[in-house]
Amino acid sequence: MKRCGTIAIVGRPNVGKSTLLNRVCGTHLSIVSPRPQTTRVDVRGVVTRPEGQIVFVDTPGWNQQARALSRAMLRRITESLIGADIVVLMTDVFPALRRAIEERGPEAAYVHPVDRKIMKRVLDPETRGRPVVLVINKVDALPRRNHALPLLDAWGRAYGMETMVPVSARTGLNVPHLVDVLAGMLPEGEFLFPDDALTDRPERFFTAEIVRESAFHLLRDEIPYAVAVVIEHWIEEEGRLVIEARIIVETESQKRIVVGKGGKMIKEIGTQARRRINRFLDRRVHLSLRASVRENWTSDPGLVENLVDRP
Ligand code: GDP
Ligand code: MG
Repeated sequence: MKRCGTIAIVGRPNVGKSTLLNRVCGTHLSIVSPRPQTTRVDVRGVVTRPEGQIVFVDTPGWNQQARALSRAMLRRITESLIGADIVVLMTDVFPALRRAIEERGPEAAYVHPVDRKIMKRVLDPETRGRPVVLVINKVDALPRRNHALPLLDAWGRAYGMETMVPVSARTGLNVPHLVDVLAGMLPEGEFLFPDDALTDRPERFFTAEIVRESAFHLLRDEIPYAVAVVIEHWIEEEGRLVIEARIIVETESQKRIVVGKGGKMIKEIGTQARRRINRFLDRRVHLSLRASVRENWTSDPGLVENLVDRP
């Protein structure tokens, strides 16, 4: 029987939720939601391991409401909790807590008031029953790692919390252990996402779409819809993602337009697309573009499937 579960990562703004997602997905990253603002499930990362598939869900946009734990924010937390099998509540060792411990000793440790509010929501009748894992992030910023212990105690006292994992999302410290813990808690169920060949398809797909959009944007009506983009090379190299894509058109004259005088146009398409891809994938990208002609590809169903449906 396979295991698969959805994990909602909740927490105050700036505790490091996104950093954790990026870290956890890192090389395994398979799915990135293109438009976090849309109402559909905000799938941010899928990790597939032999023992099961973990679907991490974040609720983006909280940073915009960083000043207060607004109703809207609580509503989003509730929404993401409802769809989740497991809750990761992330907190950190915040400055006021550090000061309190320095001045009055470990017993002075306390749960952040906003974390209490979030916890109240997590324990709501609507969402109760889901296992909760407390993650204490940014332990790299502590003079000693055991300085997180008073905070663990405070949470244990307040909520009888059983599973608490200190990590550093930034350095990766203890993150593999966290993933092990979560993998061990997954409910039985079929994988929600394909586990092998298609793992990076959405990223590639949206990347190709961005290149295509940039071409359309810069060329306006100069070439018709007969543009397709194929991703030919996609590899991680020295901390950046190297992507080679090919822009496919139907005629030589279209190709000349795409390439432009001395390659000026294709360069511009590349620059604009790379900027957007950087933002979309949230990492450093090297993009190179080429153009070529495939006569009549728009009227060949096989080519259409290859070029459009599976870039
Ligand atoms: P989010 O609002 O919860 O998604 O938080 P982010 O992931 O955007 O991180 C907020 C800030 O905390 C950023 O400046 C991160 O670099 C920083 N941060 C995240 N994780 C760590 C960590 O493990 N250690 C330290 N020192 N800083 C971290
Ligand atoms: Mg974030």
